[in-house]
Amino acid sequence: MTADPDMYQKRIYKADWVLPIVADPIADGAVLVEGDTITAVGDASEIISANPDVGLADFHHTILLPGFVNCHSHIEYAVFRGLLDNRKFGAWLLDFIDLKRKLEDVDFATSSQLGAAECIASGITTLGDSMYSGTSLDVMRDAGLRARAYQEVFGIDDHRLDEVIGEYSERLDGLVERSGGLIEIGIYPHATYTVSPRLYQALAALARERGMKIATHLAESRAESKYIRSGTGVLAHDLREKVGWESVSHEAFGVTPVKLLQQWNVYSSDMLAAHCVQATPRDVEILAKYDVAVAHCPKSNAKLACGIAPLPALLQAGVRVGIGTDSPASSNIMDMFGEMRTAIFLHRGHNQDVSVLSTEDCVQMATLGGARALGMDHQVGTLEPGKQADLIAVDMEHSHLTPIYDPYSALVYGANQEDVYFTLVAGRPLYESKKLNTLDIEKINAESLAVKEKLRV
Ligand SMILES: [Zn+2]
Repeated sequence: MTADPDMYQKRIYKADWVLPIVADPIADGAVLVEGDTITAVGDASEIISANPDVGLADFHHTILLPGFVNCHSHIEYAVFRGLLDNRKFGAWLLDFIDLKRKLEDVDFATSSQLGAAECIASGITTLGDSMYSGTSLDVMRDAGLRARAYQEVFGIDDHRLDEVIGEYSERLDGLVERSGGLIEIGIYPHATYTVSPRLYQALAALARERGMKIATHLAESRAESKYIRSGTGVLAHDLREKVGWESVSHEAFGVTPVKLLQQWNVYSSDMLAAHCVQATPRDVEILAKYDVAVAHCPKSNAKLACGIAPLPALLQAGVRVGIGTDSPASSNIMDMFGEMRTAIFLHRGHNQDVSVLSTEDCVQMATLGGARALGMDHQVGTLEPGKQADLIAVDMEHSHLTPIYDPYSALVYGANQEDVYFTLVAGRPLYESKKLNTLDIEKINAESLAVKEKLRV
């Protein structure tokens, strides 16, 4: 990262409310930032009087909180939003494969920029982003976002296992060279229906060998459970035909997807599993036993008619859970407020119990919970001295947020992505007074419309 002299100055950020997440909300609070690090959090008048020469950014009627950690995204798919809105998971997946084939890397790069712009303007400061084209890595790095960029890998033909691992390892070398700064690289076996158990096992070994984190889509749909248990259904036939895997033999494993990966020694505390909608009570115990973290993506799961993940059971079992927006191709927008709101409505409604999830739990999952799920909680997820200066200001000057009695309630039940006013990552303002500093949104929007033409069906 190039050194901007301004980055190393001290600055005080002050607001009506400051949410440290690990402590109670502070009314009339402030955060002192030095370079890329938070050095004090507390009562605004105390921090200001102790630092009389430090510049003050007074956000007045706003809520300051840690930047959101979106622990499962695919920002390169932003241009696909709104194209496949009424398909169940299996049909959605098949049509999405056709659409992806229409684009080249340059288009995915544009789409990644569109996604990155939306994330920054929505208060997302850290991503666990799953990459197909690999273009989101450069975009997130140049835009100043913090991320683990996971490279997806596919392969069910074990005869090609060594070849696949060799090629993938070389690809990782190239990605590592392009990373650095606030971006690290992770390993992403796509899903149990696109990656053989043996390849999963080899990738888990590769992750350990290279000291990298690993993530996967897991137990997302009934179609996946059916395919793994009985070797039948849309993922056994239509998907294989579409991607040219008809000749590769496959078996019925007779277990759940969660159990299958346990049998193949894939799990560790370095693993993040997205979705886990179909996890059974026994599966939840397995995830907890191996300290596998979960990315909860309630909107995507509901929209693709996959179901509702057993979040209360996961939390009760002590599983580290963060929130993910998943891909705009499935959930359309990357709005962490909408994800929190969907989560609390679904779980309270489904369980007919208000105690299953509180507004505080939701904000915790969208910040510290996500940081824990990604293994980044030593750096981000809370406002505490010593943590990285990743914070956002949510503007409360709107009728839908007036009056505020409880900032957690306002964020979860009232706010949305347009209410974010300011986004700071590692002490660097990426979004100020609702203007992007590192991306040219007019250019990105114009280029995205050109990509749209290629996707017209
Ligand atoms: Zn996904």
